[in-house]
Amino acid sequence: MAGLLFGTGGTPHSARTASTIDGIERSVELGLGCMEIEFVQGVRMGEAGARLVAEVAMRGGVKLSAHAPYFINFNAHEPEKIRASQDRLLQTARIGSICGAESIVFHPAFYLGDPPEQAYDRVKKNLKEVIEQLKRENNRVWIRPEIMGKVSQFGTLDELINLSTELEMVAPCIDFTHWHARAGTFNSYQEFTSILTQIKERLGRTALDNMHIHVSGIAYNKKGETKHLNLKESDFQYIELVRALKDYAVKGLVICESPNLEEDALLLQATYNSL
Ligand SMILES: [Zn+2]
Repeated sequence: MAGLLFGTGGTPHSARTASTIDGIERSVELGLGCMEIEFVQGVRMGEAGARLVAEVAMRGGVKLSAHAPYFINFNAHEPEKIRASQDRLLQTARIGSICGAESIVFHPAFYLGDPPEQAYDRVKKNLKEVIEQLKRENNRVWIRPEIMGKVSQFGTLDELINLSTELEMVAPCIDFTHWHARAGTFNSYQEFTSILTQIKERLGRTALDNMHIHVSGIAYNKKGETKHLNLKESDFQYIELVRALKDYAVKGLVICESPNLEEDALLLQATYNSL
């Protein structure tokens, strides 16, 4: 990975249409380096469409990632819900990989009142089955469970690092904003670098050379995230975060999920380049 690239979660608002291809073309015009394809309401792209997306992205020099549907819960108690969750992640990985995406992001689970260790074991077992299927298909994307912003959601930094050490092809999607929203902490240079240090110590320097990051502004209460905000309307210390990423020479993709998408993606990129 060349360096740290910045882009939007989904097609930029200023694109001609909301299509993925127009999103990539607009990202090129804006000077952004990456984009996350949002399959959050379902994977509604076929293989031919995905090949076209790959071509346009390659030509424009835009790196892609893909976000799986929201309706996934690897800790569901009903076998049919587990199977549906596995299928949604598999389908995202299949189409995403044809698009040229190297990372597939998903929201792993809800605790549903279960003890976290029990949820962890179930998530691990069900995710492992997906990984084994992808290996059979010779699909070598990174499967990235995301740090989640609500305390009812599975997906703490520790849980994701543990999954990454225990399962092949798994690496964390570090959503710094969600991690901040869970407890209101993790909003300073020192706290940001402590996360990076922990990743380096447990997953190795290669993990910092291939990071997948989500950033936005956020509103939260004692249960965690309530909604995403634009960076300048929130308390999130994005300049400190960008400084930490630069000081640690982090490489990979930074996907901006603020409501204003490209405005904050460009703000993050400009901040990074100014340091
Ligand atoms: Zn997400």
